[in-house]
Amino acid sequence: MKELFPISPRIREEAAAAEAQCAPIFQQIDQVAEYNSNKVLEAFIHHRVSEACLKGSTGYGYDDMGRDTLDKVFARVFGCEAALVRHNFVSGTHALVTALFGVLRPGDRLVACTGKPYDTLEEAIGIRGHGQGSLTDFGVEYTQLELLGDGTPDLEAIAKAASYAKMIYIQRSRGYSLRPSLSVETIGRIAQAAKAVNPDVIVMVDNCYGEFVEEQEPTQVGADLVAGSLIKNPGGGIAPTGGYIAGREDLVELCAGRLTCPGMGREVGCTLEMLRPLYQGFFFAPTVVASALKTAVFAAALCSRLGFTVTPAWDEPRTDIIQSVLLGNDKRLIAFCQGIQKGSPVDSFVSPEPWDMPGYDSKVIMAAGAFTLGASIELSADAPLREPYAAWLQGGLTYPTGKTGVLLAVQSMADQGLLEAQ
Ligand SMILES: *Cc1c(COP(=O)(O)O)cnc(C)c1O
Repeated sequence: MKELFPISPRIREEAAAAEAQCAPIFQQIDQVAEYNSNKVLEAFIHHRVSEACLKGSTGYGYDDMGRDTLDKVFARVFGCEAALVRHNFVSGTHALVTALFGVLRPGDRLVACTGKPYDTLEEAIGIRGHGQGSLTDFGVEYTQLELLGDGTPDLEAIAKAASYAKMIYIQRSRGYSLRPSLSVETIGRIAQAAKAVNPDVIVMVDNCYGEFVEEQEPTQVGADLVAGSLIKNPGGGIAPTGGYIAGREDLVELCAGRLTCPGMGREVGCTLEMLRPLYQGFFFAPTVVASALKTAVFAAALCSRLGFTVTPAWDEPRTDIIQSVLLGNDKRLIAFCQGIQKGSPVDSFVSPEPWDMPGYDSKVIMAAGAFTLGASIELSADAPLREPYAAWLQGGLTYPTGKTGVLLAVQSMADQGLLEAQ
């Protein structure tokens, strides 16, 4: 067979060994994808998704059956009462912040219990920047509890804080940090510990990158509210934009009042031509997440064979699609990201450079040649140029092409003599 990409024999050899090593993990990933695909199918059938549901509305969007049914389908899959799935959410951050402003009132206390939240939330909370319009500016109090030394949540401190908290905030994924991601089971333990002390406390989870990695979602183990982005896992690489909030009916209603207007809530908001890709993306999402996971597991196995520190390890249980590879210096980081770009279906010929991205506090290099701009369910690598020069790799619409992207990233380092320097 003709070699389609210029990968050195040594890297190919290591890749073959890495892939063989990953076989049992891939099998587990396929099992979860099978369960979750059927979970989605069952919800489509249960809520009688029809051809008419796929057609969008215009104007105010009153009586948009497709929109209302999609909300119900999401809620059923997430095992909760209600959902708000909208293309109008501009990003995951927008969905998360809509939920925070929707639920919290002046004088309420928000307790982040997995350390500093994701970079883009800092300004919205008011712990970075000028603070205008932030939650803090609106009189919401904020407490941050750090994870313990081993990266696990401090259940004792959380229980104590829950007694005076309105909301306990959990970030499932590691984001741009090196802490472990939190399994759904661990999230359940946090919810239980908090509610044992204060049954009224609202447990909210930033579910970005986590959807469909496990068979259960946080809303099935005690979370009251979750939010995420549709250009990550639950959009299946097909949703062109959007976000979702899911959870308790009363809370989702408050969030809808914030997204649109109090009194109108979920009953307005036209869907234009967006419903078909949102349904279709959600339908594909479990197997796309499986492809992204296999790409991550393969990258972990290959890069650790080549001597790099990776987290999580190839055989560690996963709860999100993020893989970090510690590359040690900026040259390798840039070469790695440029290699990922070379393997992209779109814009393969451009070369990413570090830039000052809004919402982030250090320069970031981003490799992404995606059908949807910025979609990190498609193979992409983001790396803030700061210690320890880790590349955060995620996505992969299909495993065969995700694997090629990883090979090209490694080859790009080798081409510059940066692999041997290890
Ligand atoms: C991506 C992400 C966000 C924010 O999502 P955007 O869509 O980029 O605004 C929030 N939290 C985590 C953990 C994320 O991975």
